[in-house]
Amino acid sequence: MKKEFHIQPLSAWLKVDRPILISGPCSAESEAQTVTTCMQIRALNKVHVLRAGIWKPRTRPGQYEGAGLPGLDWLIKAKKETGLPVTTEVATAAHVEAALKAGVDILWIGARTTVNPFSVQEVADALKGVDIPVMVKNPVNPDLELWMGALERLHRAGIKTMAAIHRGFSSFEKGPFRNAPMWELAIEMKTRLPELEMICDPSHICGNRELLSFVAQKGLDLDMSGLMIESHINPDVALSDAKQQVTPANLGKLLDGLIVRKASVNNKTFKDTLSILREQIDQIDDELMNKLAARMKISEQIGTYKRENGVTILQVNRWEEIIHTRLAQGRAMGLTDEFVSDMLKLVHNESIQVQQKVMNQTAERV
Ligand code: PEP
Ligand code: MN
Repeated sequence: MKKEFHIQPLSAWLKVDRPILISGPCSAESEAQTVTTCMQIRALNKVHVLRAGIWKPRTRPGQYEGAGLPGLDWLIKAKKETGLPVTTEVATAAHVEAALKAGVDILWIGARTTVNPFSVQEVADALKGVDIPVMVKNPVNPDLELWMGALERLHRAGIKTMAAIHRGFSSFEKGPFRNAPMWELAIEMKTRLPELEMICDPSHICGNRELLSFVAQKGLDLDMSGLMIESHINPDVALSDAKQQVTPANLGKLLDGLIVRKASVNNKTFKDTLSILREQIDQIDDELMNKLAARMKISEQIGTYKRENGVTILQVNRWEEIIHTRLAQGRAMGLTDEFVSDMLKLVHNESIQVQQKVMNQTAERV
């Protein structure tokens, strides 16, 4: 798919430098709330695109489901008052038609829609022959194929300007975030489609105001192309996502506090120093690979020896001893427990597989 995928970056379409900043209320609730919030955001002189949800996909019934068509008029009024482009979420052909007719500049597909190929296809079909940028949020579940599939359906419908939005993933275990960031998936997506700009949505990752700036900074440090952050003139009484929205004034403070680092600099000393350090990393990786291969060879010998003596592969005491000693050693060397334990689990699982293979060889012979 990658070869025939030609994406025009959203930043080029907007004619802005990284990071693209998108903000506005979770939902358009009234004309006054939408327009005032957007005007105050505009006054910060930092935000490039205004957002507001018009049709809200709610997890449970009985919650605020958006203002519908009147909300579109409020958003367009905000566009006229501020001179900024506006974006909203679409999930059906009817949403697309109404948003296009009203003059919405950019569309986005929400996380609950990206999971459903029927809905994504319906949106893509409604967009055939239309030249409008579309941003695609990651699906609620950690499935890169669904995310790619949605982009591909839009691309096939002729959409050229696209961006992805990383808003975290649902998980059964409740951690500090509303949606687990699983940064590695966003990075994998960026690796698969380097020309696709990725916008981080700290609001939906966090689900609360406290962690917003930490996540926004982390997104920028991972070279995300922009941020989408929800803002409301009076967050505490917001009809949706009250806990995660910030006032425009606090949005300004948050944005002021962020450090935008470049992906690279055009400076010879920097490049030379970086390449020396990278050579050292290459060297260490080479040693690691050799050591891992040597370790697996020994596992194979252990497997043969256990087989000859009729002993089981897994010996819990030995595994506990490994974990215990290595964690203590790692701690003394400044490595985190999480890293050491994840790494050991991977190595140990592979070791078991190797020994299993040796055992199976006998089974075949018997
Ligand atoms: C939103 O942006 O308000 C929204 C509903 O987000 P998500 O699709 O990420 O849940
Ligand atoms: Mn929201």
